[in-house]
Amino acid sequence: MADNHSKEIRSMNMSHIRSKNTKPEELVRKYLFSKGFRYRKNVNTLPGCPDIVLPKYKTVIFVNGCFWHKHDCPRFVWPSSNEDYWRPKIMGNVERDKRNTAELQQLGWNVFTVWECELKKKATDATLKLLEERLCKIGSEIK
Ligand code: ZN
Repeated sequence: MADNHSKEIRSMNMSHIRSKNTKPEELVRKYLFSKGFRYRKNVNTLPGCPDIVLPKYKTVIFVNGCFWHKHDCPRFVWPSSNEDYWRPKIMGNVERDKRNTAELQQLGWNVFTVWECELKKKATDATLKLLEERLCKIGSEIK
């Protein structure tokens, strides 16, 4: 068991290194664009440099990796070694996320988080549809 976990984590670490324009973000962007939403990417003038910013909807979207941002889901498992390295790193991310969300909300932004596990093949359609519905609702309240 423990060995399986560490193997999974290792391959996850390799494939989920945080970078600009990772695949899950692109998935969300493409969908929104196809539905007529216009957005800005990686807006570094806002707290946390949100992946997707929809100024018209006063909404920012973070697309978060379950491992790096410690999602409460089966994809997050503490690495079985180097605890001294991982724990402060991951908990630092969690704290930063909380702080950024609070700051953004204070500035009047709606903050959505889409998790990587919600963009797994089977879940993608429902996740994107829900996101669209939430944006439409906000849009109708703004107009
Ligand atoms: Zn997750």
